[in-house]
Amino acid sequence: MRAAVMYGAGDVRVEHRPDPKIVDRTDAVVRTVAACVCGSDLWPYGSMPATDTGRPMGHEFLGVVEEAGADVRGLKPGDLVVAPFTYSDNTCDYCAKGLQISCRNGGRYGFDGVDGGQGEAVRVPFADGTLVKLPVAADSALVPSLLALSDVMTTGHHGAVTAGVGRGDSVLVVGDGAVGLCAVIAAARRGAERIVLAGRHEARTDLGRRFGATDVVAERGEEGVARIRELTGGVDKVIEAVGTRQALDTALGAVLDGGTISRLGVPQYEQGPLGPAAFMRNITLTGGASPARAYIEHLLPDVLDGTIAPGRVFDREFPLDRTPDAYRAMADREVLKALVHP
Ligand SMILES: [Zn+2]
Repeated sequence: MRAAVMYGAGDVRVEHRPDPKIVDRTDAVVRTVAACVCGSDLWPYGSMPATDTGRPMGHEFLGVVEEAGADVRGLKPGDLVVAPFTYSDNTCDYCAKGLQISCRNGGRYGFDGVDGGQGEAVRVPFADGTLVKLPVAADSALVPSLLALSDVMTTGHHGAVTAGVGRGDSVLVVGDGAVGLCAVIAAARRGAERIVLAGRHEARTDLGRRFGATDVVAERGEEGVARIRELTGGVDKVIEAVGTRQALDTALGAVLDGGTISRLGVPQYEQGPLGPAAFMRNITLTGGASPARAYIEHLLPDVLDGTIAPGRVFDREFPLDRTPDAYRAMADREVLKALVHP
């Protein structure tokens, strides 16, 4: 099969790799229908040291079950499925708590002999625990929005859940990337009254308005905080979808005392303002890596009936052979989120 492999910063190649086969009885082989490039794929794309072996890329995919291992009960060849961005057994103590991201037996695509999602097929461990069957055909117009459940939409939802966003809240979403825009969808879906989107890329913030943002703030830093305070008087909840120290400072500056900040952006800093100032203000800091598997079935009906359409974050499609161009276009910020068709 053909699949995308990263050999170092800026060096993604599409090459022939062995066809995936069932290894464990709980595996399934999924023939990919649609995959995509994640904002988090851009971190290694910008900084990965050169290697001879390469790393299979991609952790968001949707496809058709081609073969199921002997112990797979809930899936059969021909089923259309979406994969959360990590695999999990869905039976251990963490999974039982809805924290599939911490699964005792779970892992990541592209590591430990498991294929990446940006390829023609993937061996999925713990297929019953990982994959969610979809009640549509592979050529459905809903495929992009269903693919978004793999990561960006379930991650945005995780921000709204952990921040405790509810009816009547004022919410700030920091970041106009695909996760930030999906966090806007999630906050609107949970009844937030005011949703301020902090971002400066106009095409993206326009999409954010269509998703439910009531205000857009393009200023950054102290200027941005002042503008948010002027608009709202301070917000109850913040979903921080960037991961920089500046984004955290914006969140702390905009949130009301007693408020909650949920972090979705992987922190690019080690030190933070967690001392007496935040303590005296009773700020709750929450968030983290999303247990996507816990949310897919919950959000699925809203995608199927068109209540939410997170697939609108995909603004360009690439054939698998042009995956390197998809990385380049996203790294250059020409493309918000690239969909890849095997
Ligand atoms: Zn588990």
